[in-house]
Amino acid sequence: MRYLSTRGQERGYTVSEAITLGLAPDGGLFVPETIPALPLEQWQKLAGISYGDLATLILRLFMAEYPTADIRELVRSAYETGAFAHPDIVPLYPLRPNIGVLELWHGPTCAFKDLPLQLLPHLMVKAYRSLGGNDQLVVLVSTSGDTGSAALAGFAGVEGTEIIVFYPKGGTSFIQERQMVTQSAANTHVAGITGNFDDAQTMVKRLFLDEPLRQELGRKGFRLTAANSINWGRLMPQIIYFVSTYLYLLQRGILLKNDTFNIVVPSGNFGHILAAYYAKRLGLPIGRLICASNRNNVLTDFIRTGVYDTRRRFYRTISPSMDILVSSNVERLLYHASGERAEAVRMWMDALSDKQAYQVDPETRQRIQQVFWADYATEEETIATINSTFLHYKYLVDPHTAVALSVLSKYRKATGDERYTVVAGTASPYKFCPTVLRAIKPKGAANTNEFDMLTILQRETGTPIPPSLRELPSLPVVHEHVIAPASMRDYVRLVLFRREMS
Ligand SMILES: *Cc1c(COP(=O)(O)O)cnc(C)c1O
Repeated sequence: MRYLSTRGQERGYTVSEAITLGLAPDGGLFVPETIPALPLEQWQKLAGISYGDLATLILRLFMAEYPTADIRELVRSAYETGAFAHPDIVPLYPLRPNIGVLELWHGPTCAFKDLPLQLLPHLMVKAYRSLGGNDQLVVLVSTSGDTGSAALAGFAGVEGTEIIVFYPKGGTSFIQERQMVTQSAANTHVAGITGNFDDAQTMVKRLFLDEPLRQELGRKGFRLTAANSINWGRLMPQIIYFVSTYLYLLQRGILLKNDTFNIVVPSGNFGHILAAYYAKRLGLPIGRLICASNRNNVLTDFIRTGVYDTRRRFYRTISPSMDILVSSNVERLLYHASGERAEAVRMWMDALSDKQAYQVDPETRQRIQQVFWADYATEEETIATINSTFLHYKYLVDPHTAVALSVLSKYRKATGDERYTVVAGTASPYKFCPTVLRAIKPKGAANTNEFDMLTILQRETGTPIPPSLRELPSLPVVHEHVIAPASMRDYVRLVLFRREMS
């Protein structure tokens, strides 16, 4: 299995190279040269297989040059060492006879990014070593919340890695900050920035391009790398649970052998729903992929019209992990939906960087619309969905999952398609206590600190606080640095060389 760039100038990469490089040298994203499909009967025969064995089988399809035993070991390190609080890893909650909420938040930081980020560190070290690399991998992350905590939890204690996370001080939720600054593994480093997320991100990008820094680190045995959601190694692990969910539905008799089902995904950078698209291409009987957005509805417009236009206002919403205008992983969809025309993808991406917008041709648009449907939920609709879901079903959802449920009901009204639908439940409601509490109990609980809100939410709803959040208030803060963006470079050198900051 070889990988190539969506922009076409680079071909013939191994999966180890794709994972180690992250981005292709021509600026494109890595995709497999062919997508390995299996006949449906072959998938169906796997019903009852363990999550770990299924993960191994799926990764094998994309990493054929690795021995099965090696992949099995990577999978074991990620999913079978107790990081997930639920024995099924990703349990499906039967909300209604034809709606199941896939709870992707039983990992250490209570959001779906734990699923890729528990596996990625092991994958990265393995890939890099298999290419003959000996340096310590240094992962630099700028985060507005979820990615930072999930990346820290994933890299914590992984041999051969150091992770350095920068977050805007005051720009994340209190719980997200606590999840980061209480991370005690010796290879984890966290600093707050006196600036906003864009400042942190701009500076991290600059550090990656800083040749003198790269050389100095290289001499001392360090290699800078990124763990962001365009890395193929982050996409692959997300395919697994869409397959495992299908097999579960089949085994329970909720789906029959000839049935198809839909998936709705609350989308930001488009990596998650793209994994569902790859699951379909692997041969699963998936009907529609429903792309749910918040007020930042660039994706809705794109899927409906074929025009991707970022020249619009950016909103901060109550579903912050979807507050994105440039969804990087769309580039992979463009490659596949355009009939693998890399020159077209390159043209659209050039237009995006020159004019902040592009328009795909009608054939590509139609191919996207054959599979995808899109809509968005306003802030009010999101709050109302949290409220009504709790009222009718005694089931508590976070704002991102609520966006998905709201868009699903719009989809059903618009199309009449009532097929069984899997809703990607991307975060625990306890991760977004202020919003969730406000939704179910409009009066009261304002001005309460977020740790007390955990207890109030539990009392009000009778639902359990996830174990990792329950223990959070008692963990000591171990990362207290707050620095100016201009000091980030020094900070990297300081933590790696253990020198005094000048
Ligand atoms: C990251 C994230 C999303 C969006 O996923 P993408 O792969 O960026 O589309 C949705 N919900 C939550 C809670 C997230 O953390």
